[in-house]
Parts: sequence; C-alpha cells; structure tokens
Amino acid sequence: MNKAEAKKKIEELSQALEQYNYAYYVAHQPVITDKEYDDLMRALVDLETKFPEFRSSNSPSQRIGSDIPATAQTVRHSSKMYSLDNTYDVSELREWHQRIQKGLAGEAVTFVVELKIDGVSASLRYEDGDFVLGATRGDGVRGEIITHNIRTIRSVPLRLHTRKRADFPSMIDVRAEIYMNSKDFQELNRIRKEKGENLFANPRNATSGTVKLLDSRVAANRRLNCFVYALGVYEGPMEFTTQWQFLQAAQEWGFPVNAHNRLCSSFDEVIRYCHQFQQERKQIPYDIDGVVIKVNSFAQQRALGETRKSPRWAVAYKFPAHQVATTVRKISVQVGRTGVLTPIAELQPVECAGVVIKRATLHNFDEVARLGIKEGDRVLLERAGDVIPKIIKVLESPPQAKGSEFKVPKICPECHGPVVRENQGQVAYRCVNKQCPKTLRQGLIHFASRPAMDIQGLGQSVVDQLFNTGLIKNISDIYRLREDDLLTLDLFKEKKARNLIEAIGQSKTQPLSRFLYGLGIPNIGEKAAHILAKHFRSMDRLLAATEEELTAIHEIGTIMAQSVVTTLQSQGTRRLIQRCQQYGVNLTEPAETDAGKELFGKKFLFTGKLEHITRQEAADRVRQSGGEVASGISKNLDYVVVGESPGSKYQKARDWKLTMITEREFLDLVNVAVF
Ligand code: AMP
Ligand code: ZN
Repeated sequence: MNKAEAKKKIEELSQALEQYNYAYYVAHQPVITDKEYDDLMRALVDLETKFPEFRSSNSPSQRIGSDIPATAQTVRHSSKMYSLDNTYDVSELREWHQRIQKGLAGEAVTFVVELKIDGVSASLRYEDGDFVLGATRGDGVRGEIITHNIRTIRSVPLRLHTRKRADFPSMIDVRAEIYMNSKDFQELNRIRKEKGENLFANPRNATSGTVKLLDSRVAANRRLNCFVYALGVYEGPMEFTTQWQFLQAAQEWGFPVNAHNRLCSSFDEVIRYCHQFQQERKQIPYDIDGVVIKVNSFAQQRALGETRKSPRWAVAYKFPAHQVATTVRKISVQVGRTGVLTPIAELQPVECAGVVIKRATLHNFDEVARLGIKEGDRVLLERAGDVIPKIIKVLESPPQAKGSEFKVPKICPECHGPVVRENQGQVAYRCVNKQCPKTLRQGLIHFASRPAMDIQGLGQSVVDQLFNTGLIKNISDIYRLREDDLLTLDLFKEKKARNLIEAIGQSKTQPLSRFLYGLGIPNIGEKAAHILAKHFRSMDRLLAATEEELTAIHEIGTIMAQSVVTTLQSQGTRRLIQRCQQYGVNLTEPAETDAGKELFGKKFLFTGKLEHITRQEAADRVRQSGGEVASGISKNLDYVVVGESPGSKYQKARDWKLTMITEREFLDLVNVAVF
C-alpha cells in the first residue's frame, strides 16, 4: 500500500468506526457486532502504526487514551459557565415562574424541562467540526483543560456529523454533563475493592476524579458518559433562537442529547413533568438530582439576564435526598477529647446513594430522646450527596425494642468514671475524670495535631503506644521524651525516632495561640484561642485574667470565659503549663505583624461550589487574614473548605484525613456574616 492509499484507507476506517461508535453509544442501535468493530479498529491501528504521519489526534484509535501525561493547565471559557439556582419545593417553583412573567411583562413563555444529571459539567469546543478542547467548569470563568480525557468518552463525537447542515458551525462551544452510569460505577468500585483501593463515594465523585486525571488511559477504562445540555458560543451561518432548537441541532450534529428533554407550553405541564421524574428517578440508569427548567427563547433569556452566580431564566428543582431504611443494632457511646460522650448508632449495613453505611452519629443524647430511638428500631436514614448520613426518624419499634429506652450512661464507658451534665442548658454529657485514658489520649493527639502544635509523627498509633507503655501521661511529658525512650517501642527505628524528637523540639517555638488551642479547653476553638492569644500576648497575663476581663473581649462569650477560667484555674492545668514552660515551650504570641493576623500561615483549599460568596472573594478573605490559598491538594493544608458537589480534592482530603470545614464554618472563620 502506498502513502496515498494508506491515507485514504485511514480516513475511511476512521469515519466508519466513528459511525459505529455513534450507533452504539449515542443512538443505542448497534449496526455491527463487537467483533467486527474490533477487527476494523485493529486494521486502523495497524495502518496508523505503519503510517504515523496520518494518525490524527481525533482518530477513533485515540479513544483508548495515551500514556503521555497531560499537564494540568487552565483555559478561559468562551462564555461564563454559570451554576443554577435551586429550589426544593413546588411553591418556590411557582414563585420563580411569577418572577419570570413579571420580568417579561406578561409575554408568552415556553419552557424546556431537562433532567439534572448529577455529574461534572464540562465545556467542549469544536473548530470546523473537530473536537479541539475540553475543560471543566472550574470557577466558571476558567477551567482545567481535560481534552485528553474527554476524547476517551465514547459518546462524545470527535467530529461533528452532517456537514450538509446549513447551520454547521465554524466554531462551537457546548456545555455538557459528564457522568457515569450507576452500573459502571458499581463495577468500578467492585474492582477497586478487590484491589484494596479506596472506594468512590458516588458516581459523581468517581467522574470528577476521573476527568481530571493526567493519564487518559485510566479515563478510557472508566466508561464515562456525556449529555450535552447548553450552547456556550456558536459561530456559524445561522442564528439559534431557542434552547429547543439548539438541542435538536446538537442531536443532529452527533452530540448525545438526553431523550427525556421536553418542551412545555404551560407551567402546569412543567410541574407535572417534575413530579413524573421524581417518581421515575429510580428507573433511570444514572444519577439525577433534579430537573432543570429553562426559558426556551434566547431573546427572553437575554432579557432576564443573570445574577453573578446563575441565570435568572433557569432554575433547578432538586429532588429530596436519598433515603433508605435500616435497623439500629446497637447504640454505642464514644468518648471525645474533652470527655464529651457522643451516642453513635451502629447500623445494619445498608447502601445509600452509592456508599455502604454502617454507623451514624446521633450527635447528642437530646437527639436520641427527640428521635425516641432504641436498639432494634427500624429507622429512616438520609444522605444527600456527600453529606454524612443522618437518621431522620424511627419507622417502627419491634416489640422487643419497646421499653428498653436508651439511657444516658452514668459512668464513662472507657474509665468507668462519673459522667455529668455540666451545665443545665448544655446538651453535652462529659466524663469528668481528669485521668480518663480515652480523654487523655485524645487530648494528646489534639495537642499534636496540625492546627495546634503541629508535631508531625505524633498521631494516633504513636500516642497509643507511648500511652500504653506509660512513657507519657500528659501534654508536658511529650517534651521530656528522648530518642532512647522511643527506641524501646516497636514502632520506632532510629530515623523515625530522631525525626519525632526533632519535630517535638521545633514545636516549642509555636505561638501561644496554637498552644492554647492545643490545650483543648472546652468551648475554645482555634479562632477563640487566637483572639485570646492576641489579646493577652503571654500565658502569664492570660492566667491572671478574670471572667469579667475575658467577657469584655469582643467575641468571647460568657460560656467561653467561664470555661477558660475554670480550666486555667485548675491545679492540673497549672502544673501542666508550668512544666511545659520549664521544658522551654514558648508561651507568648508574636507582636502584631502579618503574624498577628488570625489566619497567619494557614493554608486553605476550596472544593465544590460556594453558596454565599465567590471563590475569588473567599480567597481574598483568606489573604486579608494572613492565610494562603493553595491551588492543589497536598498533605500540608490546614483547611479544606468543602462546598456543594465537591470534586476529587474532597476524596483525597478525606483519605488523608485533612481538616475539612463547611462554607458556614469558613465564613465564620474569616468573619463574614451571612443571613
Ligand atoms: P449546581 O451545580 O447545583 O449549581 O447546578 C448547575 C450544574 O448542573 C451545571 O453546572 C451542570 O453541571 C449541571 N447540570 C446537569 N444537567 C443539566 C442540565 N440539563 N442543564 C443545565 N445544567 C445541568
Ligand atoms: Zn472516662
């Protein structure tokens, strides 16, 4: 075969394979057998190997991915990628409709109703019909380039169909949702489990983790899928005037377009459709978290415009979270760092929204009473997205469970010491035994943790060993440790021992705020510790402070003040502080420079969508408070702020047990009030 023949054959094969691909993955009407397909593919690959100069980056053979790693790069979207306003109930939906009507001065409106696919949004660009760029939504303005992975998605056309169409674009940017079918997701997790790898929490997490991978061969094996739902930018001979018109053109160009989309001429029809899909949701082979309602006319869309975050002409009607029923096998009680007892429901393992749930926190004993929950009860469990599972209510109480009401334990399950409800208005019960081994150990781990003294290498297992062998009993003992002591433990070899001793030594210079937080005074979190340290600047001065002086400080309330005074007045704590001082631990706070700022040196990372402020504003707040914003996940982050629909960073953060906070907690930390 000569060059010209090879070139022609490669083109023919490519075209044929793409057609078969489309027939199989988009039209769901395969026209040839798998074997025939494989044979053609092999023929193509053979030819391309012999004549590599004719292999295009959009050849069907490239869908299997490549081992040439992509580098993480970002790109500016051709038009902003918005998020959507949400509503969970129909009356709000009707209010939205009224606003639309008002905004359009009573013009007739038609709507397009679409499924809200629970995946990851992406922007796909085609130039002269060729797929050239895929990007994540990112912050809506810039996204990460994921072209290499998008190319592996079989339902994404690498070339647009029907050049004959009068509206064939010279350039087009479409918005699509990348997702994974429930079955493929389960299969993926099954294999990961077999290999002992971490499981993905749900198909969306698996998808977002996959599209951002640098090695496209992994994506090629993960069976991602795609639906195109919106027009970003179109350059071509025609003008599109409605969403419906676009969806139909998209379909003819070869894009996968969801078959459930509907054009509705009345709002009642819209609502009927919302209800219908809530019912049929379970039968759909991929996750949907609601329905999106869009004003059909582009002219009307423009007239309505958008807010900074989301278009006014569209709204998402979200379905309630996933719920399942299961049985409470046992209610156990955990003892935390400050001695607080937390009731935990040990459940008959049950799958909910893609993960197996074995236990759920009941938060406190008031909650147990409120739910009236007893061992043996059948309960309703809810889990929305990545949110921790929550018990909603008791469904039924079998006869044997009746009467055996759950009682707050009178003694600590760890040390059998007394349990008290310290303050009537407070919901917490505590083990008040200062020597409770569980509390002491947890306290030590907390003291060494990253946001406190940040002693690397002093985690759970090491603390357990040091504690069990009697090498340390309290915080100050940490500073008495020597390398020889550590070498007596099986966990330590020389290098590790030396590193830990060094880390302990270094922690002596940490500012007072961290030490104070590390002490684990009840009700004193990181922020309060910071405020106190900044105010008093030395432990001596803080020790001398009265409750009145403390409450006089803005942001320190009575409960906090009392807690500080009671803890710092106690003999035990005094002795502890004194010893630390003797061992050379710094107990002062540096003067007001950048280092005096509340979040000085703290590293933040954001994942998921924020509701109240933009990422940019959030980042500005962090910097103003002396902190830093990291762009990627790493183990030395102080906080991972988890918004809605977080991505792969969340998974990593969880694997690495980084400190994760919600948007609310973040706003609190940077002093932004929301209402
Ligand atoms: P949210 O992330 O809750 O603000 O919702 C907006 C996101 O919904 C978009 O960025 C898309 O990723 C996703 N989405 C899924 N299906 C659709 C659809 N049919 N139309 C618009 N957005 C959709
Ligand atoms: Zn105890």
